[in-house]
Amino acid sequence: MTSKHLRIARIAGIPISLDYSWFLIFFLLTWSLGASYFPMQYPGWASWEYWAIGALAAILLFISVLLHELGHAAAARHYRIPVREITLFIFGGVAQIQGEPKSARSEFWIAVAGPVVSLALGALFSTLALVATAIPQLLAIFRYVGYLNLMLFLFNLVPGFPLDGGRVLRAIIWGASHDTHKATLIAANVGRFFAYLFIFIGLAMILGGNIYDGLWMAFIGWFLESAAVAQVQRQKLKDILSRYTVRQAMSTKLAALPGHITLDALAEHHFLDRGGRAYLVQKNGRPAGLLTIHQLRKTPKKQWSVTTAEQVMIPLAQARTVHLDDDLWTALLHMDREGVNQVLVVENGAIVGTLSREDLISFLQHINAAGA
Ligand SMILES: [Zn+2]
Repeated sequence: MTSKHLRIARIAGIPISLDYSWFLIFFLLTWSLGASYFPMQYPGWASWEYWAIGALAAILLFISVLLHELGHAAAARHYRIPVREITLFIFGGVAQIQGEPKSARSEFWIAVAGPVVSLALGALFSTLALVATAIPQLLAIFRYVGYLNLMLFLFNLVPGFPLDGGRVLRAIIWGASHDTHKATLIAANVGRFFAYLFIFIGLAMILGGNIYDGLWMAFIGWFLESAAVAQVQRQKLKDILSRYTVRQAMSTKLAALPGHITLDALAEHHFLDRGGRAYLVQKNGRPAGLLTIHQLRKTPKKQWSVTTAEQVMIPLAQARTVHLDDDLWTALLHMDREGVNQVLVVENGAIVGTLSREDLISFLQHINAAGA
C-alpha cells in the first residue's frame, strides 16, 4: 500500500508522503507555467526566469496544499482523532484520519479547517503581491499562488462528497437528521451532480476550441464522479457489514502447530493439503503466536526450508483482537486502523477463531449468493 508513496518528512509526528503521480503533475505544472502562462502574462523576460518562477510557484502551491491538509489534521487532533499520514497527489492531498469522525460537529470542523487555511493563504499571497510591486517576478509568483489558493478554497466549497464542501454538507444533514446513511448518500449524489456538471462544461469548452482547459475540467469531473461512486459503495458495504457479527464470518478452523515446524513443511502439509488460513503456533505446549498465509507470503520462498513458524509468527501480545459479538464493520475499521489483514477473535479471554479480509470477502460472496 505504502509502496506507491515516497516518505518525505514528518510534521508534528505525522508522516508526509508523495504519491508518485505527484512528480508528473509537478513537472507538467512547472512546464505549463514556465513555457506558457508566465510568458503570456508577463512578456519580455528571459526564458530561464519563466522556468524559475514556474518552479517556485509550483513549490509554493505544493506547500499551500500541504498546509491545507495540516489544517484538517490539526482539527482532527483537536477532536482526539489520530492522523495516520498525509499523502499529496494529483489534485492536492489526503489527510488519512483513523476511523471516522464520531459526531457531526467534529466532521464539520475537520472539513472546514482545510478551506479556511486556503482562504487565509489566498489572502496572504494576494496581499504580498500588492506589496511586492518593486520586484515584478515576485509579484507574478505571489499573484498566481494567491489566485490558486482562492480557487482551491472555492473548489473545495462545492457541496459534493468527497470534496470538503461535501463533508460539510454531510455533517449538516447528519446533525439535523441523526442519519449518517442518508447524509452520506445525499452528499455523494450532490457530488455526482457536480461531477457531471464539470464533465459537461469541460466537453463544451473542448467543442468551443478551449481544449486544454476543457480536458482539465472534464478530468476533474471524472475524478470526482469515481470518488463519489466509491463513497456510495463504501456506505453500502457499511450497511451490510453492520448487520452481521464476527461470529458469522470468522474461521474457526484454528489448528495448533509446533513452533519448530519449517515453512515449507507448513505450506505443503497445512496450507495446501488442508486449506487452512491461520494457525496458532505453540511454544512449550502453550499458544505463543499467530501465523497466517500473509507471513508465509512475506518470507522469500528460498528461505522456507530454513525458517520456522515461530520466527515469522505474530506474537500473541501483538496480535489484534476483536470480540465474537462485534459487528463486521467495526472489525473491518479495526483492521484498517491497525493496518493488519487478520485479527484474532476472542471470547471471555480465550481465542475462538480468526477473522481475515478474505473471510469478509467470502462471507459477502456467500450472502450475495444467498440473495440476502
Ligand atoms: Zn481539504
